[in-house]
Amino acid sequence: MRVLVVEDEAALRDALRTRLIDSGFTVDLAADGEEGLFAGSEYPLDVAIVDLGLPKLPGLELIRRLRAAGKTYPILVLTARDNWQDKVQGLQAGADDYVAKPFHFEEVLARLQALLRRAGGWASAELRCGPVLLDTRAQTLHVDGVPVELTTFEYRILEHLILRAGEVVSKTELTERLYDQDYERDSNVIEVLVGRLRRKLDPQERLRPIETLRGRGYRFALARDTTTP
Ligand code: CA
Repeated sequence: MRVLVVEDEAALRDALRTRLIDSGFTVDLAADGEEGLFAGSEYPLDVAIVDLGLPKLPGLELIRRLRAAGKTYPILVLTARDNWQDKVQGLQAGADDYVAKPFHFEEVLARLQALLRRAGGWASAELRCGPVLLDTRAQTLHVDGVPVELTTFEYRILEHLILRAGEVVSKTELTERLYDQDYERDSNVIEVLVGRLRRKLDPQERLRPIETLRGRGYRFALARDTTTP
């Protein structure tokens, strides 16, 4: 999942970046509202974290402009503690949730993951499709109850495909979520990773969990199980 962090305090911005990368996210950074507007408009984001107190363009105005431009990804705002007006105004401007500063990173992470699940139509942190169970909190995969080890990149791709199970996901979309802008992009890497995921998920080739749609991308083909585990 690709996340934009718009935060003017350098230490906090860098701390968020490190923790988010450790948690499996691809991270874009912006240090003020104008940078945030550029990144938020141009990059293929899944979610954004926006501090409300920003130089150049205030966070509330940034959120309004992104929403006015048709950007629908979830936005989590960072507010000053005990400032209920900030929270209300943030939600009215188009944010989806908020965390008050100072915060524990775990709270930010839990709220981001909940926003991403809801955006993908999932209610629970455990994404189950037939025999495949992906736990987005623990970042673990089980197939038929047996744990399967994944690398960071394999996990990122599988999580993205399963969050959008049943939909076509283009190779470009996967590449953009795998790397931030500093990496050289190569769609052959996606093919290799999807091939490895298929062998790990389906060594007997009986499930066929990931379909290839020629020229269009991939689709996670196992039906979502939306009943509680
Ligand atoms: Ca600030």
